[in-house]
Amino acid sequence: MNQAQPTAHRDDQGGEQFALRVDGVSKYYGSQAAVDDVSFALEPGTFLTMLGPSGSGKTTTLSMIAGFTAQDRGSITVAGRDISSVPPHKRGIGVVFQNYALFPHLTVEQNVAFPLEMEGMRRREALVKAREALEMVELGNRAKHQPKQLSGGQQQRVALARAVVFEPPLLLMDEPLGALDKRLRTQMQIEIMRISRNLGSTVVYVTHDQEEALVMSDLIAVYNNGSIEQIGSSRDLYETPRTRFVADFIGESVLLPCTDFGDGTCGGAGWRGDAPSRAAYTPEGRGVLVLRPEDLALVPEDDGAAAADAAGAERANSILGVVTDVIYVGSALISLVEARDGRELEVRTPRSEAALAVRRGDRVRVSWRPENAVIVPDDMEEARGVGGELATRQILAPGR
Ligand code: ADP
Ligand code: MG
Repeated sequence: MNQAQPTAHRDDQGGEQFALRVDGVSKYYGSQAAVDDVSFALEPGTFLTMLGPSGSGKTTTLSMIAGFTAQDRGSITVAGRDISSVPPHKRGIGVVFQNYALFPHLTVEQNVAFPLEMEGMRRREALVKAREALEMVELGNRAKHQPKQLSGGQQQRVALARAVVFEPPLLLMDEPLGALDKRLRTQMQIEIMRISRNLGSTVVYVTHDQEEALVMSDLIAVYNNGSIEQIGSSRDLYETPRTRFVADFIGESVLLPCTDFGDGTCGGAGWRGDAPSRAAYTPEGRGVLVLRPEDLALVPEDDGAAAADAAGAERANSILGVVTDVIYVGSALISLVEARDGRELEVRTPRSEAALAVRRGDRVRVSWRPENAVIVPDDMEEARGVGGELATRQILAPGR
């Protein structure tokens, strides 16, 4: 399914089938917007990750969905029901936060059974369910333990079991793996994906870890300053960023200030080339040319023909510079090249004899194919100013 296209999914009654719909939601603290007009809609079973720097509004958004914080504007619907006036414990949403505080005086299985008993389920039945949930997180053999007898990673798995024990159609997780070491994180990432998939739950997951977002998600919403700058699959964000911030935040990038001359060419300080066909949202033709290090090639400085050749075009889509460093990383060589305007370009070349011959101090031409480039506006305000459909207005479907 093409995720860029709005999909109007309706059930037989004509109601919406979105598992979660957030519509124009804002939250202010004083005059400051913590969350500024955020909108998205998720089809059931979608795993959405909110990714962004600290203070960009991720937790506040999640907290409004969970019902711990009231929004000042906009609406939130879960499975077609407006939940604005529904208290948190009646929203039927599973929640896992970084501070997963288990009850210290209860056993592991009692901790997990707790939400079910709160809902009025009889203790014996609740404990049976709790055992099943603990099996899911591979802690069936720790049911009778006290939380303090478990490692941090095991405690976090208990918190996960407690959040999924009532098989919530919607699961919210705010940096649940933040306190764990790298190895446990990786293990838990896979576990969370497996469990949510088995339950068929829709997940909204928060992290500031780009790699975690890329690994886990169907969709990523990139937050900046309280707004979603772009929402899409990992591939969309990497290959077709819509703003400079997204290009910079997702993966490694080389950013060249550029003007689109409107005649099929573009250029900047010390270079000129073909305007990429994937130019988007560039007001008055000014923006930033985004390139990825693996899409750049190094050719000798004086070899203009080779540059044109490597670029697959008549015009040389290239810029001159001096190699300042060559880093051998096994599968590839990373060359750092200083362009004439002082800008540093990272070039990632597969291992080859030619690549291995590159030396610090070499004068080179860094070239690219225009089809691997995209032009983006300098900031979100410009992106908004251009009009057209904003990324944050897209309706999104799961990619699996
Ligand atoms: P993130 O989770 O992306 O790190 P938050 O949603 O926690 O960001 O915070 C977004 C902004 O709102 C920040 O500037 C933060 O300081 C502010 N903020 C969050 N909660 C409160 C609060 N209770 N009172 C005042 N400001 C808050
Ligand atoms: Mg947060």
